[in-house]
Amino acid sequence: MGTGTPARLTVLSGPSGVGKGTVVAEVRRRHPDVWVSVSVTTRRPRPGEVPGVHYHFVDAAEFDRLIASDGLLEWAEYAGNRYGTPVAPLRERLGSGAPALLEIELQGARQVRERAPEAQLVFLAPPSWGELVNRLAGRGSEPAAVQEARLTIARAELEAADEFDVVVVNDDVARAADELVGLLTAPSPGHVRSSGAHE
Ligand code: ADP
Ligand code: 5GP
Repeated sequence: MGTGTPARLTVLSGPSGVGKGTVVAEVRRRHPDVWVSVSVTTRRPRPGEVPGVHYHFVDAAEFDRLIASDGLLEWAEYAGNRYGTPVAPLRERLGSGAPALLEIELQGARQVRERAPEAQLVFLAPPSWGELVNRLAGRGSEPAAVQEARLTIARAELEAADEFDVVVVNDDVARAADELVGLLTAPSPGHVRSSGAHE
C-alpha cells in the first residue's frame, strides 16, 4: 500500500440475475478508468464473452494450481462451477494507490471481509423477488434447471444483505451505476455503516 489514505477495495455482490454485470458494464461505459478485477472461472464462456475481458476461462486443473499457489484472494463454487479473484493484479492496482472493484458472489464476499477487513462491501438488491425471477429468466442464457439452482441460491443470498456495508437497489441501471461510482471514490468511512436502505 502507498502512503496516505489507502486505496479503496470495493466488493459488489448480490444474487445472480440482479444485474451486477449490467451495472458494472454501465459503470465502465461511463467511467472507463474504473478498474474491475477479471476473475478466473471453470464455467464455459457464454456467447459474446471474451476471454481475458469478462473472465479468464480455465480448466479444473489450472484452477487447482491457482489455489495451491495462493494465487487467489478468494474463490467459491457456484452453481457447479468455480470462480476466483486473481490476487496479483489486484495487489498491484491497490498498491499504486488506485481503487478497485470486485464483482463476486456471497461466499467470496465473506472471504474478502475476513482477509481484507478494510474492503467496502456493497450489496446489489433487486426491487422485488418477482423482478429478480423475471431478470434471471429474461437473460435466457441458462437451461431451466440451472435457473432453478440459481434461484435457490438467490433466496439465501438475499437474506445476507444485512452483512454488507451498503445496499444499492438496482431499480434503474443508470441510477445504480451512479451510486456505485460514488461509493468507489468516496472517502473511506472506516467501519461506520453507510446510510443505505438497511439501517
Ligand atoms: P448478474 O450479473 O447479477 O447475474 P445480469 O447483469 O446478467 O445479472 O442481469 C440479469 C438480467 O437483468 C439481464 O437480462 C439484464 O439486462 C437485466 N437487468 C439488469 N439490471 C436491470 C434493471 N435495473 N432493470 C431491468 N432489467 C435489468
Ligand atoms: P456468472 O456465471 O453469472 O458469470 O457468475 C456467477 C456468479 O459468480 C455471480 O454471482 C458472480 O458475481 C460470481 N463471480 C464472478 N467472479 C467471481 C469470483 O472471482 N469470485 C467469486 N466468489 N464469485 C465470482
